[in-house]
Amino acid sequence: MDAVQPRSTPGVTAGHHFSSLQICPHKAWSDYFLPGSLKADPPGFLLAMQREGIAHEEAICQSLFPGAVRIPERISSDDRQRRTVDAMQAGAPAILQAYLAAEGRVGIADVLELVGPSSESATGFLYRVGEFKRAQKLMVAHVLQAAWYTDLLGEIQGQTPTEAFFILGDGSRIAVPLAESSSIFSGQKSQLNALRDPAARPGPHLCKACLSCPWRSVCIPELIATEHVSLLPGISRAMAERLRSTSGVTRWPVLATASDEQLLDYGIPSRDWPLIRSAALCLSAGQAVTRQPLNHATLRALSAISIEFGSGASGAAGAPPPQAAWLENDGAGPTRIEIAPDWTADLSPVAGRTPIVVYGATELAITHRLLRTAGGQSPHVVDLLALIENFVHAPLQGLELAQVTEYTNPALTCPADGPGRVMAMRAVINWLAGDRGVAA
Ligand code: SF4
Repeated sequence: MDAVQPRSTPGVTAGHHFSSLQICPHKAWSDYFLPGSLKADPPGFLLAMQREGIAHEEAICQSLFPGAVRIPERISSDDRQRRTVDAMQAGAPAILQAYLAAEGRVGIADVLELVGPSSESATGFLYRVGEFKRAQKLMVAHVLQAAWYTDLLGEIQGQTPTEAFFILGDGSRIAVPLAESSSIFSGQKSQLNALRDPAARPGPHLCKACLSCPWRSVCIPELIATEHVSLLPGISRAMAERLRSTSGVTRWPVLATASDEQLLDYGIPSRDWPLIRSAALCLSAGQAVTRQPLNHATLRALSAISIEFGSGASGAAGAPPPQAAWLENDGAGPTRIEIAPDWTADLSPVAGRTPIVVYGATELAITHRLLRTAGGQSPHVVDLLALIENFVHAPLQGLELAQVTEYTNPALTCPADGPGRVMAMRAVINWLAGDRGVAA
């Protein structure tokens, strides 16, 4: 944290703090205190999901709330609040992007839906909160956010609705009674309140969510520099806290060299010792630390493919149509396979290569389409990005190929072109297969 200066006062509590808290308390604290300029760019897959979410929301608004008042996003907070209350007082049938604010708190509800006129409401009408979700199932964080908006709405209209509703990805509408989650909601509000203290900083802890977290470029260097115990898989945040408070242990090398008796003293169950010790060996040797064993022989047999797009760049979401596929070639430079506009390509160099490995959902979809167009028996295709996301426990700065190679092979610059990406993928595969590595 040397170079990172947190703000002395927290930002306002907003709906997103509830989802941050569900993921990691340090994320919620960082949301309060760290400047937005320190946020890392969202990974490509998250951007694609956000775009889909916006399109989904737009479609719902048009079909279910065509006459709604929309509160503009690009005006001042005061104006957004004023326009929201004006629309409530006018009895608008629905209010999109409703801006609900109170002292130190804010919430932007996807929609406020008119329930009806009410002489007991401070605005003359009663509204309820609705949220649009692309998911087909509700998550706890969704309900807590709706409860947060409903609390704020209750303060404005003087009456708090007992339920909120959700429009899910399949178009279904469900009403959720908020009383069912009220004790969880109160607990989370108290936790968030406690985190509004700069001294309450929980500190980073390496977990799966770090890979796509906006604060990763602040947390990951700190975890590496402090040799944090969470660099070992299987050390939960609760266990790390216990190790720190009862034994003063914060660094993973201490666990790596601990005797059985010491590990017992630290309260680490014996069933976790093999994983902790083998992970520590891998970390010391700069090899991949995985959450479960990977088959190294299968990894070495993978043949890497990267797609070249019209612009010459590869792997970009929303990129122009593919022009070529670059196939890894044993002992020689990658082979270029031309792709015609009708998606036909001479895939004979791919024959007999199985499994094939690509990087990311975009190249996975393109490779599947090429193989389908070519016909015949398709080889198994593996997504290296998904493999890393699901199995690797390493302090990576993100999931882009360049960010992975920066950790696994710091001397290797990952070029943006097809041949360069194929070589970078091979370097990452070799690291996963235990053939090379660097120390954390
Ligand atoms: S990068 Fe990881 S530790 Fe840091 S705030 Fe995000 S999830 Fe928490």
